[in-house]
Amino acid sequence: MQKGERDQDRLRYDGSDGRRGSVVILMIRFRHTMLVLSGCSLALLATGRQPAWSQQQRPAYGAIRAAPVPLPPQNPATAANPAPVAKPAPAAKPAVGICHPETFRVVVDVGHTAAVPGAMSARGATEYSFNLALAQEAKQALVDAAFAKTELLITDKPPPQGLMVRAAEANRLPADLFLSIHHDSVPDDLLKTWQYEGQDQHYNDDYPGYALFISNDNGDRLGSLLFGGFLGKELQARGLQYTPHYTLALMGHRRRQLLDPVAGVYRYDALIVLRMTRMPALLLEAGSIVNRQEELDLGAPDRRGRTSAAIVAAVQDFCAARARPVAAKPTAQPAASKSTGLRASTITPAR
Ligand SMILES: [Zn+2]
Repeated sequence: MQKGERDQDRLRYDGSDGRRGSVVILMIRFRHTMLVLSGCSLALLATGRQPAWSQQQRPAYGAIRAAPVPLPPQNPATAANPAPVAKPAPAAKPAVGICHPETFRVVVDVGHTAAVPGAMSARGATEYSFNLALAQEAKQALVDAAFAKTELLITDKPPPQGLMVRAAEANRLPADLFLSIHHDSVPDDLLKTWQYEGQDQHYNDDYPGYALFISNDNGDRLGSLLFGGFLGKELQARGLQYTPHYTLALMGHRRRQLLDPVAGVYRYDALIVLRMTRMPALLLEAGSIVNRQEELDLGAPDRRGRTSAAIVAAVQDFCAARARPVAAKPTAQPAASKSTGLRASTITPAR
């Protein structure tokens, strides 16, 4: 299609009557076409760097950042005596881009149920108990950060009905963001046995770290990926790392495509709470409770506090990113607010 357009332009050029205006227009078209072709080449290069099993073009971490906002044209009358930086012209101030946490509803889902509690830790504690403690702390941290509409979602219905109930409830509210809190284990064949307090328990010390999952079937895949990028960045800013083991062949059918190799966002289409929710949705595996050291960390206030703080910061990032309409062209970046920690982000989904 692009080659055809170029041939068409060349024919028009050859058949022109020599008017200068036509030549200028055709040259602009030709340059535009070349720019499009260059962009496509870069996109193809990015795709070519994917693992062979990867079917999905991965946006590089930087690729989800919007293009730099151009500076406003300088007025020749003021160029010689520029106004102080702290006092931009009123028209240059962005009118949008501020998160309003009081209207932004986050649903924090406590993974599993008391009766069907998920994985078992290296010392015999249930995943549900870890999920509940972290989700409660994250919910309180969000409320403290002025996200007053935050909901803690707990259900006693077993899966799969319970999972559909969670998604239906988030859709009914409706939520602006769905975050499901879990703690990780490994496939049974990777577990080893040790004795803890006289009991046989199962552990694996090889794969510590958090992991993030989104579904391509979610109602807002781009939003989910954007939030995952924010959360990974904020967790890492607090000293945490994601586990890469979901990319390993030994994971078998649990192997996952790594969509964002900087933030640690994996693709897991089948998860009901991610695929049946209409708003951006993400599942956080906060760490491995079968890892004997990380289990101790995950049970301690310091780790829960860091994870909760990362969740709050990522929600603030996301809320601000979503608060700015695509058409807006702010000419200056507002400074971060120290009182609320909220900031207008330049980051918007690229696709
Ligand atoms: Zn779980």
